[in-house]
Amino acid sequence: MAGVVLDGKKVSQEIIAELKPRVKEITKKRGRPPCLAVILVGDDPASQIYVRNKVKACEELGIRSVELRPPANITTDALFEAVDPIVKDKTVDAILVQMPLPKQLRAEEVIPYIVDPFRDVDGFGIHSLGSLVVNRFAPRACTPAGIMQLLHRSKIPIAGKHAVVVGRSDIVGKPMALMLLHENATVTICHSQTRNLAEECKRADILVAAIGRPAAITRDFIKPGAVVIDVGMNRLTDKDVVVPLFAHDLSRLSAFAKNESVLVGDVDPRAMQEMSSAYTPVPGGVGPLTIAMLMVNTVDLAEMH
Ligand code: NDP
Repeated sequence: MAGVVLDGKKVSQEIIAELKPRVKEITKKRGRPPCLAVILVGDDPASQIYVRNKVKACEELGIRSVELRPPANITTDALFEAVDPIVKDKTVDAILVQMPLPKQLRAEEVIPYIVDPFRDVDGFGIHSLGSLVVNRFAPRACTPAGIMQLLHRSKIPIAGKHAVVVGRSDIVGKPMALMLLHENATVTICHSQTRNLAEECKRADILVAAIGRPAAITRDFIKPGAVVIDVGMNRLTDKDVVVPLFAHDLSRLSAFAKNESVLVGDVDPRAMQEMSSAYTPVPGGVGPLTIAMLMVNTVDLAEMH
């Protein structure tokens, strides 16, 4: 069996296209476009790429973006001072602080100070997370919200299915499990202390892997015909690891030879393709949806304001 590819890029383009008239309407009504503020502390290369892509998505939609890039060694007090104009600016509809933060800054202190519940575009705040628990409207964490969109738009039934979510982070695993639960899946959450992980996973009709371990979910973890959602994004550079993983895919191998690195998910790509009924490729699966949902949250917040 060869699983159908769930094309996250295509779905994300659909979502972005649907947002365009909403952005126009807001801009017309208020005389200014929605506005997203992005705070990137330091110069982590991966974070820089993420922020660049977010700003690009704003530009594509006609959303105004404001960027603040304090240095990596900034203290908490100095950061609070630097963000003050953004925090006080009522024309800013949505604020995000790019993760991870440098070690001297504590997310649990920084995020609530900078991001109030009505501008919590990432849905990481306590208010947004609490609203998710009781299934009330509030910005939803973008990655799991994007996965729900992908499942809906791909007409994958959820109610009554057994979903297994591997990973219990506050930004992916836990909100993912809650969203599936609200749609009446029977949900199992697995983590690093789970016994017999393969057995648990093999019971899944919908398997979501979000652990940050390259290709850790292998053939033995996948029930034939399951829908497999691979959230993981791991960059590999070791030829001895990469070659066996992509032995079936010459185009990926030649891309690796050229770039000296390759992106792999948390699921063995070949096993996922061969065992599933449908799966998200890496890249081109879950990744693009995350940014599209960030734009949805920005527009939702602007409409709410
Ligand atoms: P975290 O590191 O915050 O959480 C990882 C989770 O996986 C933890 O709950 C951990 O368990 C669990 N885990 C780790 N190792 C194992 C294992 N061997 N077996 C079972 N469970 C394990 O990661 P995130 O949730 O932030 O991200 C997960 C992955 O998703 C990463 O690869 C990340 O890059 C990717 N990602 C992709 C996004 C996208 O847009 N495509 C967006 C966000 C993340 P425990 O709690 O017990 O430690």
